[in-house]
Amino acid sequence: MLVIRAYKTELDLNNQQETACRQHAGAARYAYNWGLHRKQEAYKATGKSPNAIDLHRELNALKQNELSWMYAVSKCAPQEALRNLDRAFAHFFRRAQLMQQGKLKGKLGYPRPKSKKQGLGSFRLTGSIVVFPEAIQLPRLGRLRLKERNYLPASGVKVLSATVCEQAGHWYISIQVEQEQAPATLAHRGPVVGVDLGVQTLATLSNGTTIPNPRHLKQRLKTLKRLQRALSRKRKGSQNRKKAARRLGLLHRKIANQRANTLHQLTASLAKTKSVIGLEDLNVAGMLKNHHLAQAIADVGFHEFRRQLTYKAAWYGSRMVLADRWEPSSKTCSGCGWVDEDLTLADRMFQCRNPQVPCGLLINRDLNAALNLRKLAGSSSERQTPVEGGALAAVMKLRWNCPR
Ligand SMILES: [Zn+2]
Repeated sequence: MLVIRAYKTELDLNNQQETACRQHAGAARYAYNWGLHRKQEAYKATGKSPNAIDLHRELNALKQNELSWMYAVSKCAPQEALRNLDRAFAHFFRRAQLMQQGKLKGKLGYPRPKSKKQGLGSFRLTGSIVVFPEAIQLPRLGRLRLKERNYLPASGVKVLSATVCEQAGHWYISIQVEQEQAPATLAHRGPVVGVDLGVQTLATLSNGTTIPNPRHLKQRLKTLKRLQRALSRKRKGSQNRKKAARRLGLLHRKIANQRANTLHQLTASLAKTKSVIGLEDLNVAGMLKNHHLAQAIADVGFHEFRRQLTYKAAWYGSRMVLADRWEPSSKTCSGCGWVDEDLTLADRMFQCRNPQVPCGLLINRDLNAALNLRKLAGSSSERQTPVEGGALAAVMKLRWNCPR
């Protein structure tokens, strides 16, 4: 199975190389903004807008006199930036179409000019890219040292492109490669598990394990606010403002890294040890509109969790089962299937009050949801997979008895 995947690692640049990288990122940003302006201009005049190929041709003509400084950078940097611009417009038009059909609410994402204030940005290069154990060779930039040895795949892969980006003073490279990925031949023998993602705890597994929410953002929110305030008090254009912006950027970077790490560890361990993973298909976009939950949800990264689990499940031979968005996994009793329509977000415990069956289950709300998701995951697998907990009779029931 030929797959495309990306590897990202940090670069160890010397001053000269950093300057060259800044120039490339600058050229990419310039080309993007120039292209955006040209597209808007042409659209106003003729009702049509030029594509990346037209624009690159036009840009090359300009390079001969007024944009001669662009000869110092690889031609890929502006070219790929113009391609990105085309993609940005395609994305915008797709969303606009969805909105017309009434399938989308929210922002359309009209492409905006890139500003240096948001960081130096990035650029993408194609062509001859060679990976060494401790370095990478790029067109124009030459051999750049890497901070981690032997992480980037040096052989057996085809490198499609390399993207260099800057974040809070650190430079990273991400290469996109085409590689042979052996399909997971043996499906897991591991147990079926239901996972309830939450805000109070990051994840509750149906076997009783809970993974606490690291709350990286909340923990550091105070510091973040202080740094933000410090930045806004500094005089615009001053050195002190630059320093404050750098401190703030570093904290943002730290939070992002920690969050990514927690998610990767959790999704990897699930995909490696479980045969079927039941998950709720959360309406993340809808939930983000609820302002009380928004920050916490964004912090946990539900969407990213599902994305990682999808590809890791394929790698390691486990299966992911998504419960329908309207399946009341929290409101259904995991013991008897009774649905508590009055359950609110504030109820941390689930109490079964089924009038027909004397069930009386009293259980943690998240665990109850996880158990329901496990049932669904178990029932949707054709293979007979061992289910822990011995709730086999319940597993036989294919659907929860819930009114739709
Ligand atoms: Zn019950």
